[in-house]
Amino acid sequence: MTVPHGLVTGAGSGIGAAVAEDLAAHGYRITGVDLRADALERVLQDIAERYGVPVHAVRADLAEVDQARAAVDTAWALAPVDVLVNAAGIYPATPFLELTPQDWDHVQNVNVRAPLFLLQRLAQHAVPAGRTPAAVNISSGAARGARPGTAAYSTSKAALEAVTRAVAVELGGAGIRVNSVAPGFVPVASEVNPVTEEYAAAVTRSLLPVPATAAGIASAVRLLVGEDASRITGTVLAVDGGASAGTRSLPEHWPAVTAWQAPVTSGAAR
Ligand code: NAD
Repeated sequence: MTVPHGLVTGAGSGIGAAVAEDLAAHGYRITGVDLRADALERVLQDIAERYGVPVHAVRADLAEVDQARAAVDTAWALAPVDVLVNAAGIYPATPFLELTPQDWDHVQNVNVRAPLFLLQRLAQHAVPAGRTPAAVNISSGAARGARPGTAAYSTSKAALEAVTRAVAVELGGAGIRVNSVAPGFVPVASEVNPVTEEYAAAVTRSLLPVPATAAGIASAVRLLVGEDASRITGTVLAVDGGASAGTRSLPEHWPAVTAWQAPVTSGAAR
């Protein structure tokens, strides 16, 4: 039986690492891509030991289009890619009045341009080969709900969702599906994207008493790339404990709520 092949960017940490692990646990060989070679090697070695699947590390700066394309070429040369997950991303909090054109360009290049050209290169391999890979772009609730310091980031994620739709439209005829997953806040102890406890507390919201985890995002990704989602393309799936559906906070003058309506205090999601 052929082993399916997952190409995961940002696999050196957080959500990308969890996606790589989840796919490996479900029988995928993994090619991981990250800027940080050491972190990536650690994650992939652990995955290989635990799940016994082939792994391959590609160190690349995805802000550079040539390196993004080369990463896909390397992965495809190992084996046709069945799943691409664009999880590499940066979310610096930069006050609007301090935002520079360089800050702006870097966020757009990593968060939007790289996924777009990774998708394009994947299609350039897959279409002539008659293959039908599925892709997921990791967006964010910030695509719709801005917070202070997110002018560049929110824009990049809204653009990524637009890329998802546009590419789904053009590749649907070839049987290639492209979707987005939009997480709420997920604590990941990131070295690249550190957040303060104060910030985490401010953005942690959920309708459900279920903690937000990177593994939970990975489950949603696997749902979207699997056979059960074979009619789903061009969508955004919010995985945020329902936070984007509405709020349970009530103004002080509102009548008392019953116990089962009380705001959830455990669990986390933005
Ligand atoms: P993370 O920092 O743990 O992981 C991001 C990874 O991307 C890192 O390993 C980093 O080295 C890599 N990376 C950054 N720039 C790169 C570049 N130029 N080239 C190659 N690799 C690069 O962060 P995370 O929280 O796991 O975020 C993963 C994705 O999920 C991002 O796209 C982020 O915007 C999105 N997201 C995260 C949250 C959250 O709360 N954690 C919420 C919504 C969306």
